[in-house]
Formats: sequence, C-alpha cells, structure tokens
Amino acid sequence: QEDPEFWNDHNVQVLVRVRPVSASEVSGQGFSRCVRQDGPHTITWLGQPQTRFSFDHVAGESITQEDLFRVAGTPMVENCMRGYNSCMFAYGQTGSGKTHTMLGDIDDLAIRPSLQRGMTPRVFEYLFARIQQEENLREQEQLRFVCKCSFLEIYNEHITDLLDPTSINLQIREDVKTGVYVENLKEVEVKSVHDVVQLLTQGASNRKVAATNMNRESSRSHSVFACTVESKWQANSLTNIRFGRLNLVDLAGSERQKSSGAEGDRLKEAANINKSLSTLGLVIMTLVDIANGKQRHVPYRDSKLTFLLQDSLGGNSKTTVIATISPSNGNALETMSTLKFAQRAKLI
Ligand code: ADP
Ligand code: MG
Repeated sequence: QEDPEFWNDHNVQVLVRVRPVSASEVSGQGFSRCVRQDGPHTITWLGQPQTRFSFDHVAGESITQEDLFRVAGTPMVENCMRGYNSCMFAYGQTGSGKTHTMLGDIDDLAIRPSLQRGMTPRVFEYLFARIQQEENLREQEQLRFVCKCSFLEIYNEHITDLLDPTSINLQIREDVKTGVYVENLKEVEVKSVHDVVQLLTQGASNRKVAATNMNRESSRSHSVFACTVESKWQANSLTNIRFGRLNLVDLAGSERQKSSGAEGDRLKEAANINKSLSTLGLVIMTLVDIANGKQRHVPYRDSKLTFLLQDSLGGNSKTTVIATISPSNGNALETMSTLKFAQRAKLI
C-alpha cells in the first residue's frame, strides 16, 4: 500500500540502498564492512572518523526488490496518475547496484517473472493494474489512459535514442506549450508490461552496442527511461486531459573519472561526466533550498540531463534519489562520497 507519509512536505526523497557483500568480497583477504545500518533512517560510515548519516529511508542489504518498490515505486506511480511528474535516480559508484535496482533481472519476464526484477518493470506492472482499476471505477466518465515511452542515453553530453540508435546527437528543445522535449526522439505506445520489457531489452542491447562501438564502458553514460501517462475523461460534457510523466534514470558511475593522463576526447569526457553529476546534485540541492522558502536560481541548463528533466524536477514534481553503496571496506571512500552526495540532497 501507498505510504501517505512518503513525500511529506518536501518533494525530494533520498533513500540509501546497501548492496549485499559479493562472494568474491567475502572470500577476499581482510574483508570488512565500511557501513553499519542503525535503523530505518540512519547509517554509520565506519571509517575514520566514524560518521553518522540520516536519510528518509535506509534499505539494508536484505531488502527485496519488491519491498524497495513498495517504499519508493508506488508513490511515484500514484503521483504520475494524478497528473504530476516524477523522477527517480539511481546514484552510486559502478558495481554498487544501480542497474540491479532500476532494472534488475528482466530476462524471460513475460514467461516467468524473476523475483529479482527491479524498479522499472514493477513500476509498470503496478501502473497498468492501477489504470485498469481506475478505468473500471470511472467508466461513466469514459476515463482512458494512454502511455508512451522513450528511452535515451546521455553520453559525453550527447543524446542518443536507445530505441533508434541511428538517431545520435539529438537536441533538446523548449516549447511554451508542451515544455522541454527531445527533438526526433522515438515515442512508443505501451499497453502491457510485455511491451515495456521489449523496449527495455531493446534499449539495453543498443546501449551495449553503442558503448562497444565507441570503445567505452556503458557505466559512463546516463540512461533515461521515460513514460508519459495521458488520461482523458468526460465531465459536464467537456473532455478533460491530464499528463503525468515519470522518468527512471540509471546514472553514470559516480566514481571520480580519472582525468590525470587523459588527453583530448578522454579528458573532455571525464569532465563532462563529472559535470553532469555535479549539476544534478546542485539542482537537487537548490530545489531543497527552494522548498525551504529560499529564493534560488536552478541551474537546469548547465547539463543535458537536468535540462531534459527540467519539467520533472522542481515545482509540483517529486524526486526520488536512490543512492546505492557497497558495504565493503575496499569501497569505503567511494561509499563516503555517495553518502555525502545523498546527504547534500537533503540538507537545509
Ligand atoms: P551498477 O549498475 O551500479 O554498476 P550493478 O547493478 O550492475 O551495479 O550491480 C553489480 C553486481 O552486484 C551485479 O552482479 C548485481 O547483480 C549485484 N547486485 C547489486 N545489488 C544487488 C542486490 N541488492 N542484491 C543482489 N545482487 C546485487
Ligand atoms: Mg549499471
């Protein structure tokens, strides 16, 4: 069930998810943990000096995909059905569980749904079930929903359409009526989870090919799976239309991109990856400030990612950051840096 308290009065929610220790970590020499969970809201970093952090939610190593969806996913879908926009980001170093969280195991989803399927497939299972329910409930108003999805990648500040990889370097445009959009981005109507999974699979494989062709890791790009939910109904012989949009974002690995020794394109790439992540952090921080009554300029246009999501960040929109961390002491410094990023998103 939806947690009515989830959003409280601020529109930014920050969750930390600790991934389980992997088999190779346990068997390694000198393994120890770098974090300890102290409750549903607090986690302690065990390095020097020990540092305690509080978040809206701390999901320990044993949280299931299903429970994480219940906590973070359902409010997002409900919000979208009411005609508001939302964004969910997975932020963390490579290997900390971003893709596991956002996508998880989607193999054979139509045949035998895996318990390890992640946030995105579950969002759509829930969305389609809720749509069915609402349409039945409001049959007299002829309520109808139409969902359209797109899937893109931002790499080195260039946008590629993951549903049509021949479309590279797409441009962001702004329209007074419809807001910010990506020009020529493919949008596909989806009617079932099966349709969505097909897009996810197709996009994931295009992402891999693009990375291989350009000789780079896919961990260096951001992927944005977006869905526009349009609802139409009759009231007093008028047609009402409402749009809600949800954005599911698997961010580039947050580990510091090495620029030492890099030259030319590689140097520029490292700078761009760092810049888009730090701009996102700055935008979220600024939004928290604004929610607290301060007057601030939001630097949406400073990166492709934040410009693209401008209409889904701030205002009435809801933002969820899932910061994924590794519990291993070998990753202690990156874990600290992720916890700090997540903390900044909450600071007043
Ligand atoms: P990232 O996308 O951040 O680089 P991945 O999601 O690919 O990281 O996770 C790295 C590895 O750890 C994968 O093999 C993944 O299946 C595993 N993993 C991550 N989080 C979890 C989790 N919560 N439960 C089980 N396995 C996980
Ligand atoms: Mg990944």
